[in-house]
Amino acid sequence: MGFCETEALVLRTYNLAEADKIVVSLTHANGLVRSVARGCRRLKNRFGAALEPFTLLQITYYQKENQELVSLREVEILKSHFYLSSDAETLTGLAYMADLVIEFSPPYQTHEKLFRMVKACLEAVASSPTDLQTVLRYFEIWLLKLEGFLPDIKRCVECHLTFNESKLAFMGSDLVLRCRSCSQGMGTALSNRLHRQLRATQTLAPHVFAEESREVPVKTLRELAELTHSLLGRVLEREPRVRSTFP
Ligand SMILES: [Zn+2]
Repeated sequence: MGFCETEALVLRTYNLAEADKIVVSLTHANGLVRSVARGCRRLKNRFGAALEPFTLLQITYYQKENQELVSLREVEILKSHFYLSSDAETLTGLAYMADLVIEFSPPYQTHEKLFRMVKACLEAVASSPTDLQTVLRYFEIWLLKLEGFLPDIKRCVECHLTFNESKLAFMGSDLVLRCRSCSQGMGTALSNRLHRQLRATQTLAPHVFAEESREVPVKTLRELAELTHSLLGRVLEREPRVRSTFP
């Protein structure tokens, strides 16, 4: 309660009454925060262009006891990604990212790793917009992992055998990975390339993962997208709102 100053990423805004906006942002200090920016749609206002989606801000907000909607008091732009919104595909991809963060994050729960991951993915897209799709895959995998929905990708869930080039992982209809013998001929084998891609997300930063994925065959990238969308679909119990497509 009271004043809070924190770094924040604007995810989405809604108009409220005549002159105000509701700003949904992911904050470093308190996770997902919904705030009211009073008067921000008037010609002269103290927020200026700061409330555009995907802008990184330093904000101060005030929270009254028992009120979920806080009042946005001060904003300072740390990094504007406004130029990204001129490209429709980038805008759709980033909006998809924002939607999933909102969907997965309970409000006012500090999640520093999630904040850092989303910020790093946004910066990876900003520095190389053509890598959008691979950064989105990285984002999906880490979102699932940080929220506890990613199956063990290193070992068989039953016998704990470590997967490698000759010991393939099989994914069953329950979306967990088993070795050949534990899967008893059920499920689909993950190709070595796909498994390598999955493992790479666990050790590389998003911009490095994206760079190293540029030589990966489109087929493998599609398989990765199918995998992440099945996992997300199960968690959300429906298909993700936006289907990312490959050329
Ligand atoms: Zn096994």
